[in-house]
Amino acid sequence: MLARSDAKGAIPPALVEPGGGFLTSAAVLHLQRAVGNAAVASLLGRQSRRPLTVQRYEIEGPFDINDPVHETITQEALKQAGMIGPKAKYSDTEAWEYARGAMWNDDPQGELFDKNKKRTDDYSSGLQWYRHFSGFEKRAGKGEQFGPDAELLARSHFGDLQFLHGMAADMEKASVTRAHMMMWAEFTYKVAIGEIPVTTRLGAVTVPGFVELFPKQKQLTVNDLFQVAEVGDATKRAAGSLMHMIQDSYASGHTERTAEAGGHKGGVVSFHSYVHQSHKKHDAYDKLPSGKGSDVGKLNRLPGATDAVAKSAQILKLIKDKKPWEDAELYLKLEVFNLEPMTRPASAGKDFKEDSDKTPEPALELTEPLPPVNDAIVPNTGLRVG
Ligand SMILES: [Zn+2]
Repeated sequence: MLARSDAKGAIPPALVEPGGGFLTSAAVLHLQRAVGNAAVASLLGRQSRRPLTVQRYEIEGPFDINDPVHETITQEALKQAGMIGPKAKYSDTEAWEYARGAMWNDDPQGELFDKNKKRTDDYSSGLQWYRHFSGFEKRAGKGEQFGPDAELLARSHFGDLQFLHGMAADMEKASVTRAHMMMWAEFTYKVAIGEIPVTTRLGAVTVPGFVELFPKQKQLTVNDLFQVAEVGDATKRAAGSLMHMIQDSYASGHTERTAEAGGHKGGVVSFHSYVHQSHKKHDAYDKLPSGKGSDVGKLNRLPGATDAVAKSAQILKLIKDKKPWEDAELYLKLEVFNLEPMTRPASAGKDFKEDSDKTPEPALELTEPLPPVNDAIVPNTGLRVG
């Protein structure tokens, strides 16, 4: 699919070394900030008089990679689920592996961290990730499609794994995107509760559709996929990756949902495609509101964020109690990735198009019948769950 460089998000020319070198040290700091390196952000805050709103590189993906939004939502969800103390931070030992997993969807090749045999929070410069990412962005901009044979980073941001962010390729039916999301949910949930051991080779994972999605990774283990070697915990990282997908699906730029009372979001109307979106508009809904206050306080003002915390927490509770996948499946299909009876194929979304883009929205169409969930009947309604 296509993606464009956004002039506003590009690296300021002053940060590029004269004479064709790659990047100045200032640029490195810029990039570390851009990819969410909290340690560098605090460094900049102390040493620089420049405002912290450093111009940044805008990318597809998370509830913004620039702010620690996924980490903060995951932290709050862990608290709601009673899995960490009320004052714990995502960077604390008890929460960190979940937070690290929540970053995996943006960094599926582990390039935002240095390999370290003793700790898993050793942030890299981010340069390798950035070079890699911008290379894929250019190729995608020329029309290259990234499918199962491509690298995971390309697939996650510009290709067939965009469902990891609650997004989809242009005109993909919502039921197709949801099927992919449920497949990823089943895999990550089963890893999280230990049903799929972390030493399992990906080629031996029996979740329908999974092996076809990772033909080049068949020999890798679950640990390898989540970059767990000497230290780290792939069960928690898998849970974190599931959190990321749930959370993104409540970000307005990623997924259109119905509006419910009290500012809550309801069923899915459409998954968005990044191709023709205004990156600026997409990002406006992805980051913490500006102004004073703690990250948690700001989070509560971000549309969709309180739902994202509550839904994430519910899944974490099921994981904590090691409930079978079927329980989580039911919850996800009914309460999280529930499709409206009428849905739209994927598009930029009317609120996220460039102002000059007059393309009409794809029409609403009847949602394709969804397969029943283990013949489950929704309590008290008699409805069969789709
Ligand atoms: Zn994302």
